[in-house]
Amino acid sequence: MSPWSGNVTLPWHEPTLPDVPISAIEHFSYCPRQCALIHVEQTFEENVYTVRGRLAHQRVDSGETENRPDVQTLRNLSLWSERFGLRGRSDLVELHPGRPPFPVEYKVGRRRPPHADLQLCAQALCLEEMLDVEISEGAIYSHAERRRYLIAIDQELRQQTLGIVKEIREQLRRQVLPPAIDDERCPPCSLIHACLPQVAAQPHRLRGMQGALFRPLTPLNQDA
Ligand code: SF4
Repeated sequence: MSPWSGNVTLPWHEPTLPDVPISAIEHFSYCPRQCALIHVEQTFEENVYTVRGRLAHQRVDSGETENRPDVQTLRNLSLWSERFGLRGRSDLVELHPGRPPFPVEYKVGRRRPPHADLQLCAQALCLEEMLDVEISEGAIYSHAERRRYLIAIDQELRQQTLGIVKEIREQLRRQVLPPAIDDERCPPCSLIHACLPQVAAQPHRLRGMQGALFRPLTPLNQDA
């Protein structure tokens, strides 16, 4: 049975609108402002979490193909969907004999649903279109937990994913920076110094600082 059962309508992506990077889905799900800082303003800063993530991904991203007796693994595979306007890469796709491709997303930290689940679902949507298959499951591997979570690519997750894709596309089209959330998600965020959430979340304080920033300097000879 098609994974798109029921009265789901699937319009094709309008090609004049921006494609959505698959990586933006997890960023937006975590914090829409983080997504805009990265994908609209091209801001990137390292912290301990991004360095750990980069090191953990080095082997995964090597692009090497691994053959075990019962499974072929493809790493760092390019993915795209014309239908949904998506592009990106997969960490890992497993090819088991007689079964659809099985995407696996690696996370250095603990699994924090639904962020990575949505990203995994977008990968599955791309693979379905690229290979003309139906994918019902994939996995999130948490390096911190040394655990693989089996994720159902069901209708609810698909709808949730496409809803976020639509919001990201609108953010990319409008090039807007949303307000800061300024909650428990901020301290571990690598962009906290670029974002300044405690300032950005208080518009009156921000307006005061902006006023001081552009106040003209006193001419040097005024007191002479
Ligand atoms: S510091 Fe907070 S508000 Fe700013 S981008 Fe990160 S999570 Fe979002």
